[in-house]
Amino acid sequence: MIPFLSLKDVTALHGAEINEAVTRVVNGGWYLQGEENKRFEANYANFIGAKHCIGCANGLDALIWIFRAYIELGVMQPGDEVIVPANTYIATILSITENGLKPVLVEPKLNTLEIDDDLIEAAITPITKAICIVHLYGRNAYTDKIGDLCKKYGLKLIEDNAQAHGCLVKVRGEGLEVREMMTGSIGDAAGHSFYPGKNLGALGDGGAVTTSDDALAEAVRTLANYGSQKKYVFKYTGRNSRLDEIQAAVLDVKLKYLVENNAHRKQVANYYYDHINNSLITLPDRLPDEQNAYHLFPILVGDGKRDALHDYLEQNGVGTVIHYPIAPHKQECYKEWNGMSLPITEYIADHELSLPIGPSITMDDVAIVVDLINRFC
Ligand SMILES: *Cc1c(COP(=O)(O)O)cnc(C)c1O
Repeated sequence: MIPFLSLKDVTALHGAEINEAVTRVVNGGWYLQGEENKRFEANYANFIGAKHCIGCANGLDALIWIFRAYIELGVMQPGDEVIVPANTYIATILSITENGLKPVLVEPKLNTLEIDDDLIEAAITPITKAICIVHLYGRNAYTDKIGDLCKKYGLKLIEDNAQAHGCLVKVRGEGLEVREMMTGSIGDAAGHSFYPGKNLGALGDGGAVTTSDDALAEAVRTLANYGSQKKYVFKYTGRNSRLDEIQAAVLDVKLKYLVENNAHRKQVANYYYDHINNSLITLPDRLPDEQNAYHLFPILVGDGKRDALHDYLEQNGVGTVIHYPIAPHKQECYKEWNGMSLPITEYIADHELSLPIGPSITMDDVAIVVDLINRFC
């Protein structure tokens, strides 16, 4: 059996150190808002290259708090528009609608699967306040064109970095010089998820906001702690959305191995790129290695054979997953958009299949997967 992702194997890669960290917190008797959070937040902010990191309960909350903080700070108001890729996990869109903001869905490019930067300018209106990019599948979605549009129209750039911890991007600066930046530090703020299956995954839920904006960081930290800065004094109607000490301790261990674990993902992905050879299958454009954290390895399967390939691999002991089978605008929760036509997003929902990838899969297993795929017809 070659599972899509074995969390048990992923944890076992650093099992002794993780157990030691958990035991330290259990025996220490301090479970929330303590030294483990402080240490992880400092290390993760440093890793990403942002001034602040605020741990919170999960990745959805991280994104919710960014928009809510901008509303509390008077930068945005309910009814304002946020440009967002139509091809994303539902959480990105939920974080916008949860705040009474209006998502404006923009199609992806079929060869990159990321937001089509040629379509963004036409979607900007007088009430557009932000562009939210999603580094989906671990692939960098930022382009200098997006950065230029944000400057030209005075828009905030928000990154959904839930799937791309450790992805590096070459960003053109003011003076046309090129800087290497981590996704999560390019925009004004970024939401990160530490859901167990993510590149940096906890043993339960967790998330964080990174930003170099002091006022935004303070508002996010306050909102995620009941809206309180001082015990029993409430500035905002916040919620309880904190990262607990056990998860922070686990994440701090796993952060040390993130680059190494991403390097293994790259080896797996490069093997797929070099050896998959089946005319039914299209691979997305190959990015420079550092610009892809290879959270997932999406392929597009033609001739209406996606589900057949999934079943065939399953019968041969290989797990695959569709990301995602129903596009956000076709979901029952967004009935008002069900009639919208977003053909590229819908094409991806109908043709995408994600192959096994992760820090623990062996190269022998990857070779077996490729062999099976190449014999599929
Ligand atoms: C996982 C994910 C989220 C949400 O993170 P949770 O921790 O599950 O709340 C947001 N956006 C994207 C693109 C994701 O993949």
